Amino acid sequence: MLGRPITLMEWELPADGPFGVLISRDDEDVIVYQATTTKAHQAHIVLHEVGHLIAFAFDGRRPSGEHSCYSDEDERDAEVIASTIMDQAISMRRRVRTHKLDDPFQHSVYNSLVLTSEAA
Ligand SMILES: [Zn+2]
Repeated sequence: MLGRPITLMEWELPADGPFGVLISRDDEDVIVYQATTTKAHQAHIVLHEVGHLIAFAFDGRRPSGEHSCYSDEDERDAEVIASTIMDQAISMRRRVRTHKLDDPFQHSVYNSLVLTSEAA
């Protein structure tokens, strides 16, 4: 949808700052997320920033430069998108387990996000 890659970067961000920072360059979007937190929290941070990218794309806006602070409306949109993706991933995983279809899905993206977040 966005037509360009998203790079994920784990980083030890200052404890008093944001957990995630979105950096939009000319040819890619970089999501920097807090290294010193749980896997479940990291998954949420990344999905939240992805939520911003999707919300911007729907609006026809393109973020530029470094973003870590948005309007309340932008934050709400990002959270709604993040939790929608997480809900979908969790319910898909549940269905896969119920029908014992695990094998073909082992390497898919939702596994890497949800396997870690379900433990929380
Ligand atoms: Zn945000």
